Amino acid sequence: MQPSHIEHIGIAVTSLDESIPFFEKLLGTKCYAIEEVADQKVKTAFLRCGQTKIELLEPTSPESTIAAFIEKNNGKGGMHHIAFAVENLEGHLEEAKEAGIRLIDQAPRKGAEGLSIAFLHPKSTCGVLTELCEDKNKC
Ligand code: ZN
Repeated sequence: MQPSHIEHIGIAVTSLDESIPFFEKLLGTKCYAIEEVADQKVKTAFLRCGQTKIELLEPTSPESTIAAFIEKNNGKGGMHHIAFAVENLEGHLEEAKEAGIRLIDQAPRKGAEGLSIAFLHPKSTCGVLTELCEDKNKC
């Protein structure tokens, strides 16, 4: 596996309204996109930090995995996952599977910003929930 860069870092938050101004100040930049990902029952907000983005995730339903994460974290948000940019996501998933890494997503699915994404299970990745993403819009 040879990711080109860290595409984004996912941070679970209890409120986008409260956390967006904080991260705008911290990073000296404006949030450039807010998007609801119905699939994952989250609302996301993005800020740029160089080539890497910060993805803030607010649950839109108690059944969201982000809601479960916040509950486990004593009602607080926190760092949730790291996402690597790859080309040929399907090939990488195959490779990860062959290497004995447990996959959460057996096949790529659609994430925020029109990216193809797939998660690897933290039990196989040193406790860090890991996302692979591919930007198929990029030529
Ligand atoms: Zn993500």
